[in-house]
Amino acid sequence: NYPNYGRIDGPIVIIGFGSIGRGTLPLIERHFDYDADQLVVIEPSEAVKGFLAERGIRHLQTRITRDNYRNVLGRLFANGQGFCVNLSVDTSSLDIMKLCRDLGVLYIDTVVEPWEGFYFETTENAERTNYALRQKVRDEKAANPGGTTAVSCCGANPGMVSWFVKEALLTLARDTGHDIDTPADRAGWGALMQSLGVRGVHIAERDTQARRAPRPRGTFVNTWSVEGFISEGFQPAELGWGTHETWMPENAHSHDSGCQSAIWLERPGAITRVHTWCPTPGPQFGFLVTHNEAVSISDYYTVGPADAPTFRPTCHYAYHPCDDAVLSLHEMFGSGRQQTIHHILEEDEIVEGIDELGVLLYGHEKNALWYGSRLSNEETKSLAPYQNATGLQVTSAVLAGMVWALENPKAGIVETDEMDHARCLAVQMPYLGPVEAHYTDWTPLQDRWELFPEDTDDSDPWLFRNVLAS
Ligand code: NAD
Repeated sequence: NYPNYGRIDGPIVIIGFGSIGRGTLPLIERHFDYDADQLVVIEPSEAVKGFLAERGIRHLQTRITRDNYRNVLGRLFANGQGFCVNLSVDTSSLDIMKLCRDLGVLYIDTVVEPWEGFYFETTENAERTNYALRQKVRDEKAANPGGTTAVSCCGANPGMVSWFVKEALLTLARDTGHDIDTPADRAGWGALMQSLGVRGVHIAERDTQARRAPRPRGTFVNTWSVEGFISEGFQPAELGWGTHETWMPENAHSHDSGCQSAIWLERPGAITRVHTWCPTPGPQFGFLVTHNEAVSISDYYTVGPADAPTFRPTCHYAYHPCDDAVLSLHEMFGSGRQQTIHHILEEDEIVEGIDELGVLLYGHEKNALWYGSRLSNEETKSLAPYQNATGLQVTSAVLAGMVWALENPKAGIVETDEMDHARCLAVQMPYLGPVEAHYTDWTPLQDRWELFPEDTDDSDPWLFRNVLAS
């Protein structure tokens, strides 16, 4: 008795069958009608062969590349219908999205992924930013508005957190006695955030999932794609840049074309730390890893022109991955080389922990509000198979995005900020464990080590100058 969200006509093609692909499959099986013989998984790894064969699912053991994607996908989608679910690393979201729209096929991904080689072979750091990757998708949207729906970046973050920002704003409005209607468009949401006095948003995450055995040296351990995390961790740190900021780091660069909502730092995100807050640990360090949502949320809530806004929030990721991943990063950056063994923690080896992923809206009259999911691995196992808590937060967002696309098949290229957050969260909520709002009086100037003077600015605790760890 799971809700049925309708029928997908034509092939469903899942590209990439790693931790997220494997977790998305049972949700598709559970919530949609489709012809079972039209479900295809494209995955180069031999390792998934048995799993798919046991379930009678067609496996195309191929690597999608710049040279073959038109041919492979063109043949699968020859009838001009179906759904392409891109959950792979190293495949260009933009190129595949364009092809799908040309063919009239619905499309979804969880990140603006480039073709293989981009992350480590592009020599200009400005070109390796998520700003650059995202702007190309935004330019495509502007050049070809409307048409077949392609949902860009619909995982947990980027993705679900954009819906959380809206829910958190409505919560804050209610709790501060503002009698408002739910905004109906982007201008309304921007005006609401501005009127509530929100200065910025941390995507504040603490992953406490752990297994019993200690991490072996030489192994990168994570709760989702190791490859994906290393790639983004080596991109420059990046953040949406708010109008309240009075200072910029010396290694910061801004952009003079595109939406101009973000800046990037001449330093890898995974060794750039920020002071942040989550309900379980309270104050903690997070890594300022670049993410699409940092750019998109700051863009979406901009009031006024892009190059001279009257209001824009600062927005960035503040990520404390699972402890084994922190050690893995430490080892990798310290040694100057990537570990050759990668391991994603599986639901059955994890003995404790939750993925606490939310948005921390700060600077308003109640100081700061964290709103998010506190899903445990234990609960995850009772909700859906083949994934840990991190995975389910992502795959349930993919499900919500697919439902929305099916219900809005001619919406063009959209980001999650632009979708109906209430509808998407209604689909996703049963999979998120406790979703809670927590106010805190903590600020980035509290709980510092006072024996060493720091370059802070006491005039406003929420300035990025105070958030960035020295
Ligand atoms: P993973 O590393 O577990 O799996 C990726 C899979 O893609 C692997 O099985 C690999 O063999 C396959 N693959 C690699 N190159 C391919 C190609 N050219 N063609 C087809 N398949 C290919 O990764 P994951 O944890 O499943 O994550 C998948 C994607 O989702 C990544 O891009 C990751 O960044 C993204 N992601 C997004 C979020 C979010 O919240 N938005 C969260 C987690 C992961």
